[in-house]
Amino acid sequence: MTGHILALSGGVGGAKLAAGLAAVLPPEQLTVVVNTGDDFEHLGLTICPDIDSVVYALAGLNDTVRGWGVAEESWQAMAMLKRLGEADWFNLGDRDMAMHLGRSWRLRAGESLSEVTARLTGALGIPHRVVPMTDGRLSTLIETDNEIMDFQRWFVGEQCRPVAKAIRFDGAGAPPSPGFAEALARPDLAAVVLCPSNPFLSVDPILALGGVRETLLALKVPRVAVSPLIGGKAVKGPLGKLLEERGQGQEGNAAIAGHYGKLIDHLLIDRSDDADAGGLRERGLSVTVTDTLMHGLADQTRLAREVLAAAGLQQPA
Ligand code: GDP
Repeated sequence: MTGHILALSGGVGGAKLAAGLAAVLPPEQLTVVVNTGDDFEHLGLTICPDIDSVVYALAGLNDTVRGWGVAEESWQAMAMLKRLGEADWFNLGDRDMAMHLGRSWRLRAGESLSEVTARLTGALGIPHRVVPMTDGRLSTLIETDNEIMDFQRWFVGEQCRPVAKAIRFDGAGAPPSPGFAEALARPDLAAVVLCPSNPFLSVDPILALGGVRETLLALKVPRVAVSPLIGGKAVKGPLGKLLEERGQGQEGNAAIAGHYGKLIDHLLIDRSDDADAGGLRERGLSVTVTDTLMHGLADQTRLAREVLAAAGLQQPA
């Protein structure tokens, strides 16, 4: 296959497919652009949860049992911080904390998030490009009945309990990072892949950057999404709750397709949601029904090949 693949990813769900794409594509043919709307400052550290999920997955360091963070993690620093009376609502493992330290001081020394991310991925032996969506600031905020909350306060601190009346992006229109802008403008761009990430919390922030939605809509290459729903439900995380709160809890993949609209022309859905396929095709979408729940690298690689096949770029394995 020739041509470059641009993948848009959030954290854990997106990272699984990103790892599959990295397993089947050579480094020069893949750019993974990662949501930074969830990034925040905590205990003096700059934490980029989605970038770290993708980096850990591509480096083979992710904890597949816990489902997030680094494998073989320990929690000594967190325990000591708690003794010191510091905030303990956000769990930071020791190895994970080293990533935040390695990133934070470099940012403070004047490197951009793109530069720092390239440094960290390089050090961990990841040959593929993993780039933040922006080097600027675009922060996801959750509007509840009573207040507008920082994303991590809502997600981790409040465990997503308050009803999300609206999701806002403070800093919408921020410029895409140089690596993202470059990938969008590549003459050899062959397809855009929307990973099975949360459309509202992980993909929408990327689309809210200056010019991104318009540029994607104008591209003449296949735009393929993998649905984050399995059996009509999110595998984990707040997507199911957000769909319920929008009155779309029963819509299944029609809600995903409706949300992305003309941004995608192909959707891969799980076999358990086979019944959704007809309605999706009536909307004009091309649909692949397959096994989209990824348990490990074999599933990730197979699904990545099916995504490329859906884009007309490779035969399915
Ligand atoms: P977060 O930022 O860490 O929440 O991660 P993402 O937004 O990238 O991913 C969250 C979404 O991934 C959830 O809505 C899950 O339903 C979806 N997800 C997680 N694992 C899988 C999987 O193996 N297959 C599919 N199709 N979706 C998944």
